Amino acid sequence: MHYIELIYIISTILLIVGLRKLSSPSTARQGNLIAAIGMTSAILVAIFSPLKGDQGNLFYVFASISVGSVIGVIYSRKVEMTAIPELVSIFNGFGGACAVCISILEVYKFDGTTSIGLMATTYLALFIGGIAFTGSLIAYGKLAGKVKDWRSSISSYFNLFWMVVSIGLIVFQLINPQAVEFLPLIILIAALIYGLTFVWPIGGADMPVVISLLNALTGIAAALAGLVYGNMVMLLGGVLVGSSGVILTVLMCKAMNRSLINVIVGGFGATASSAAGEQGDIKETNTNDTAIMMRYAQHVMVIPGYGMAVAQAQKACKELDKSLTSRGVNVNYAIHPVAGRMPGHMNVLLAEADVPYNKLIDLDNANEMLTDTDVCLVVGANDVVNPSALDDKSSPIYGMPVLEILNSKNVIVLKRSMNKGYSGIENPLFFHDKTSMLFGDARDTIEALNGEIKSMD
Ligand code: NDP
Repeated sequence: MHYIELIYIISTILLIVGLRKLSSPSTARQGNLIAAIGMTSAILVAIFSPLKGDQGNLFYVFASISVGSVIGVIYSRKVEMTAIPELVSIFNGFGGACAVCISILEVYKFDGTTSIGLMATTYLALFIGGIAFTGSLIAYGKLAGKVKDWRSSISSYFNLFWMVVSIGLIVFQLINPQAVEFLPLIILIAALIYGLTFVWPIGGADMPVVISLLNALTGIAAALAGLVYGNMVMLLGGVLVGSSGVILTVLMCKAMNRSLINVIVGGFGATASSAAGEQGDIKETNTNDTAIMMRYAQHVMVIPGYGMAVAQAQKACKELDKSLTSRGVNVNYAIHPVAGRMPGHMNVLLAEADVPYNKLIDLDNANEMLTDTDVCLVVGANDVVNPSALDDKSSPIYGMPVLEILNSKNVIVLKRSMNKGYSGIENPLFFHDKTSMLFGDARDTIEALNGEIKSMD
């Protein structure tokens, strides 16, 4: 075996081991490092491989890598924890853009001897990479609150139109490869437009599915580009990202109780604002009463949501948990799969605060435990605890599995105002008899609760 292939195999193994280790918070940091070593060695071998012949571009290659690395390091260090989902989305878009660049260069090298298989693979990489690129930019904009959902009665047709145009032009090009010189550029533009029209109308609570689908598309585009270059690491890396993205998409669809087709053509949010309405009065409470209730409870369930990330309240939660646990209260955390703004968001935050993994209870088990729970402390969660999903057929989130916290004895909601959650719909939980609202920044409130509990001894 040639040493280049050997290094590629080692790099691939490092990528797989790295991915495996990423699946647990205790080994994730190590996994990241191992995968990065695998990727770096694969890139170096690809650059210096004598099999590739032309070494004249080394200056451009290293200049680009240096500029990209400096921007990446600065941006990643500066970014707020709450903006990580947006950052991941934009990184994903760049993956798609790479596949686009590779394929558009390659299609202009085709000649009469190029096989139809290679041509089809390259055009597919161009098409899927283009969708992943512009789709991820829109997803970035939506997560950052810079782009609003856009949907009209004709958007599905518009969408379909661009898909048909892109695929039709690819088929035409495969049948008549030399017919029109600028056709590959038209295909690229059609794919970029399709990426925009595909993601723009999808909004509200359906975003997690779209984000994982875009991840899958970038992986597939990279795998196709790997095929074009005959580069094993690129192919396997793409297959790993693509297949994990597909698995995540299926899990997310399950978590939202939506079919993929329904998400893509359904248009969440079309009726979202109409679900709001007069709900009645809310009941406010204070830190003193809440602290007494929690101190004398047997079982407390913390329900973290996006607001916990905004308030950076995870460490305060851990401290509160410590105080309550040392006083004999059993504290757990109910984790909804789409809480926050990226898959695993709550797990990452709580792991960062050293909350033991066995205290993080998944949706199904948490719902079973909630009937024995004395106090549910909702820390900046909203959509994932919205009971309309269970009993209001007119609600856009009807059918989505949620944490059924009204089965517990008492519910305390920590949030700053009566603002809605990501999906923009009203939450009847806040108006329920069992619920008391404790307004304020979640971290300040939890620290105050902890202070009250400690002063009770
Ligand atoms: P939501 O977005 O539904 O609600 C977050 C709540 O946190 C808001 O009601 C807000 O109320 C409150 N909040 C914000 N800042 C603070 C603060 N500093 N202190 C206290 N409260 C605060 O969050 P959920 O986690 O319940 O649901 C996630 C939503 O995001 C779902 O709709 C999901 O589909 C969507 N989504 C999820 C993704 C994923 O992969 N997990 C990806 C993309 C979207 P207020 O402003 O009044 O304080």
